[in-house]
Parts: sequence; structure tokens; C-alpha cells
Amino acid sequence: MIIVMRRGATPEEIQTVEERVRQEGCLPHTSQGVETVVIGVIGQRTEGMVERMARLPGVEMAIPITKPYKLASKEFRAGPTIIDLDGVKLGSDDVVIMAGPCTVESREQVVTTARGVRAHGAHVLRGGAYKPRSSPYSFQGLGVEGLRLLQEAKEISGLPIITEVMEPGNVGLVAEHADILQIGARNCQNYPLLREVGRISKPVMLKRGPGCTIEEWIMAAEHIMSQGNMQVILCERGIKTFETYTRNTLDLSAVPIVKRLTHLPVIVDPSHGTGKWYLIKSMCQAAIAAGADGVLIEVHPNPDTALCDGAQSLTIENFADCVEGIRRVAEAVGRRVPARELVFA
Ligand code: PEP
Ligand code: MN
Repeated sequence: MIIVMRRGATPEEIQTVEERVRQEGCLPHTSQGVETVVIGVIGQRTEGMVERMARLPGVEMAIPITKPYKLASKEFRAGPTIIDLDGVKLGSDDVVIMAGPCTVESREQVVTTARGVRAHGAHVLRGGAYKPRSSPYSFQGLGVEGLRLLQEAKEISGLPIITEVMEPGNVGLVAEHADILQIGARNCQNYPLLREVGRISKPVMLKRGPGCTIEEWIMAAEHIMSQGNMQVILCERGIKTFETYTRNTLDLSAVPIVKRLTHLPVIVDPSHGTGKWYLIKSMCQAAIAAGADGVLIEVHPNPDTALCDGAQSLTIENFADCVEGIRRVAEAVGRRVPARELVFA
């Protein structure tokens, strides 16, 4: 349920509503809008509660939310959630490009990539320091050293950083270095981890689990938001199907669906979605045409030598061509890829 307060409702009236919500065994989540205060009610609604809340002084209306997800729902917030990433506004008409290596391998590799992707239009640098690898014998990432190298690449390139966190106990450390925390596909339903990133005040990008329905994925976002962190970005990265030609099946229909159901920004990762570098540009263009707010692309200065995901990584030259392709589609659908000069003036 959401409770919309009258314009000019007093702090005492708001406090009384919050107290009554707690007495009913629920948690109030109060947001101050431009003109009105809206109180989201988290928890199981009791019989007759909507009517009881609607009668309290200062309340304009109480609206039950029918969806299982509440805070993520369009019913809770009609306008889009917009996340400011150093001047680029994810969730607005800006198309945001996040790019970088799958894994941070060395200073030279990450700095070369950061400079290259920035020169060709990226807004955010990606790179894994803690890697969820299917095999325990594969390279697991550089850990803290990887975070330090990302920080250095950020200082040199001016690009904010997105990197993955895999354990609740590491959230504080990763949040010290990253501008956006990534929850990987395998951890989409790791609820203790979701709750932990729900307690920080940095944006969190939640990848769709390979076996998650759209509703399970949005419910995972709800776990983060229920702890107070409203800055959640959804990322479609492909799901498991019977098809084997591509690494996963990139479900682009998920983009307009989650845009219809939620107010959260949605980005698409065609690198993990397809596993093939030569499919990235067309899937990026299709993603933007479908209404995605941005893309996440793996780029490596020399994909043949990459320690992880080389087959799906673009060279810097191919990345430049991909961005041009994205720009053309963005313009065709009335959006824009903000120019680096405008953003980092
Ligand atoms: C990644 O982004 O490097 C990654 C491991 O992706 P996913 O969680 O989508 O497999
Ligand atoms: Mn990868």
C-alpha cells in the first residue's frame, strides 16, 4: 500500500501515520516528493488497513498495491528513477554506456582499456576484481589489488567504476572503491547479499539470474529496496534456454516488460547474453530500440589473450564502431548518447 499525504500535511501528521503503520506490524518508507509526502507501507497488509489509514488526519488517499513487489512497482512511483553518474543521467533520455574488461588483469590492461573506451564514448568503466568463475581452476580475479587498479584507472580516465561484489562481508570494501556495485547473475537470489547492498547508499546493478523469471528478478530488486536503497539498476544478461549457439538467450522482451512494471532503469549486457563479440553491436542497437537505458559491454585491448571472456570481448576499435551504431539508433528513437565533453567538462 502507499499512503499519499495531503499537500501541506504537518510533520506531526506524517509521524502519526508512520506510527500507525508500525502498530499494524508493517514498516513505513517515507519519501519527500516535490509537493507531497508519500509513505510506502512494507509488509503484510492487515484486514481493513487501507480504510483505517485513509481516515487518518493529513492523509489524501491510501492505495493498495496489488503486485507482489511494492517499492519497485510503477504503482508506487509513476515517474522513472533517475541515477546520476557523474553528470550522465541513467533512466532519462541519456543512453549510458558501461564498458571495460571482464576481469582486471594488470595495470596496463585496465588503464589502456579505460583510456580507449573513454575516448570512444563510454560513461562508466567496468571491470571485475572478484570473479564468479564456473571452474575453481580458472583465474578468480585480483581481489583487493583489482579494486586498487580500478581506482587508478578511474583517476586517469575520469570514468566512474562498476565492479562486482560476491559476499556480504565484502560490501563495505567494494563500496569504498566502486561508484556502482554489481550483483552478478549467479547471486541474483542471494538474499543476504541483496540485503547487505540494500543498506549502502551507492547504486546497485542487479543482473537477472540465468534461471529467474522476470517476477523473481524484480522481487530480488525489492529485497535491496526494502532495506532503504532505492538506487537499483536492472540488467538483462541472458537466460538459460535449450539454444546452444549463443552462451545464453538474451531476452530483449524483458526490457519493455520491466519498463512497464517498474520505475527502475534497465540496461542490457549483450556480452554475457550472447557470448560472441560479433553479435554485440546489433544486440546493443536492438536493446536501445527496445527502450533500454544503457548497455554493459566487455572490451579488451587484446581479446585473444584475455584471461576471461575473450570470445565475447570487443577490441577498442570494434567498441568505437559499436558506439557509433548505438548513437544512430538512440537518435532515431529520440534519445542521446551524451558526449564525453559535455559530461566531463
Ligand atoms: C560479469 O559481468 O563479468 C559477469 C560475471 O556477468 P554475469 O553475472 O552476468 O555472468
Ligand atoms: Mn565476463
